[in-house]
Amino acid sequence: GLLVGRRVKSRRRWGRVVGVLREFEQGCATSIGRLRQVVDAMAVEMHAGLASDGGSKLKMLLTFVDTLPNGSEKGTFYGLDLGGTNFRVLRVQLGGSRSSILGCQVETQPIPQHLLTGSNEELFDFIATRLKIFIEKEGNEDVLPLGRTRELGFTFSFPIRQISVSSGVLIKWTKGFSIEGTVGGDVTQFLEEAMARVGLDMKVSALVNDTVGTLALSHYHDEDTIAAVIIGTGTNACYVERTDAIIKCQGLLTNSGGMVVNIEWGNFWSSHLPRTPYDVALDDESPNRNDQGFEKMISGMYLGEIVRLVLCRMAQESDIFGDAPAPSLAAPFSLRTPMVAAMHEDDSPDLREVGRILEEALQIPVAPLKTRRLVVRVCDVVSRRAARLAAAGIVGILKKVGRDGSGGFAGGRSKGKPRRTVVAIEGGLYAGYAMFREYLDEAVGEILGEDVAQSVVFRISEDGSGVGAALLAASRSPENQSTF
Ligand code: BGC
Ligand code: MG
Repeated sequence: GLLVGRRVKSRRRWGRVVGVLREFEQGCATSIGRLRQVVDAMAVEMHAGLASDGGSKLKMLLTFVDTLPNGSEKGTFYGLDLGGTNFRVLRVQLGGSRSSILGCQVETQPIPQHLLTGSNEELFDFIATRLKIFIEKEGNEDVLPLGRTRELGFTFSFPIRQISVSSGVLIKWTKGFSIEGTVGGDVTQFLEEAMARVGLDMKVSALVNDTVGTLALSHYHDEDTIAAVIIGTGTNACYVERTDAIIKCQGLLTNSGGMVVNIEWGNFWSSHLPRTPYDVALDDESPNRNDQGFEKMISGMYLGEIVRLVLCRMAQESDIFGDAPAPSLAAPFSLRTPMVAAMHEDDSPDLREVGRILEEALQIPVAPLKTRRLVVRVCDVVSRRAARLAAAGIVGILKKVGRDGSGGFAGGRSKGKPRRTVVAIEGGLYAGYAMFREYLDEAVGEILGEDVAQSVVFRISEDGSGVGAALLAASRSPENQSTF
């Protein structure tokens, strides 16, 4: 009797876990109909954000980048890339003929965690010091003609209200950064002051968002590039807009008639987004509540955390992860997105990697195969939703610029074929997570239809945001002025 009773109890518990999964799956559903609504909402919000400041959750920030590097730039330029996870310093030598990067030296290091919540000076002193060390290593090499000030492109991957192409004010922090005294201040000035403190003579010629750097590098190699997307620690996109469509800035004149607009799509919101109680819980525990809603469903900073929250709930409903709840399972951010990717892509028959990660990251003792399969399902649901929403965002941009095949290929029809459109993509989720990439590509195909989707090329870019900023510094340099 006892044995039967226990078996019934454990079966019932498993049933509850399956119930949690089902409910979560339904909450995350991204039918093609729903994705189309997200596409439309993205395009509509883009319009609204261009019409007036504060007209939308999308800030649609002017970048003052009106021409993109075309391959004719020459000289030696520097880049600094402060993103969400890593910090890069780099030097680029440009040959001046069609897309020839003669040399590129990059130094990457993780951003020390304490800087994320430290002081403004600490952050900028760190950056200036790393840059100084990098420059000092050049020694006596003749990298620059004597007496010329080194020119720098600064990639600062947070929302900035630009005053010019080389300066701008921080609107807010994202991605877990929370430093007092930076918001409202000019980022270029902060950096230049820090450079002066450490005794470094350099000039910030371009201050750019990472999406803009990525667009610049991709355009340097392929002039059909019209947009760039980042799906890394955070997520965002930028694209080339006609100046006459930027209604909130009437009379804006540029050489090209266009300007790159930083969408800041991480803050996109629409009632059509499939939001679950886990998303609400994640938002509640974040330092930026009610902010960056789209980002919290898509980017690398959050996917692992959503998976963890679902597993926590399952642990409450059952004993599938052991009798006593594992302390790490209850600790926010103990499951990182690279681990989600590794579990999701574990193709060993006994899901060995899943077992290893559960044990290592969450201190869950060897789980039976059935439980591991369940964990993989959760990873799949979270990543698939993220990839499909990002896909809808991208198609939203294509729709805004008339490259989505609707309206008879408004972007230009040549012999009945839609015009080739290149979208640059950077960040670990697309480049380093094959399942995510497949889901994204698949969703774009579903939404656009294979015919139109074939004209859209995703160009993966590595280190593009930093190199691109150096290229933008180059195209702004007096040395290269003749090119535009
Ligand atoms: C920031 C964007 C940035 C994106 C990707 C977001 O959190 O708001 O400015 O482009 O992350 O790094
Ligand atoms: Mg980055």
